[in-house]
Amino acid sequence: MARGCLRGCPRCGGDVFAEHDPFVGVLMSCLQCGHVLTDAEERALHAAARAASASAA
Ligand SMILES: [Zn+2]
Repeated sequence: MARGCLRGCPRCGGDVFAEHDPFVGVLMSCLQCGHVLTDAEERALHAAARAASASAA
């Protein structure tokens, strides 16, 4: 299952997808600019996704 977040990139607003790296595990990186999200950026993204689904429900 592909995990991703459309327009989740804090740098360019591009689409962020989970990528498996043999050394560090799962990375969230942007398809458009290649920016790899930091832990803090990842957490902010998850929090925003939760808030969005909560308000939609
Ligand atoms: Zn980007």
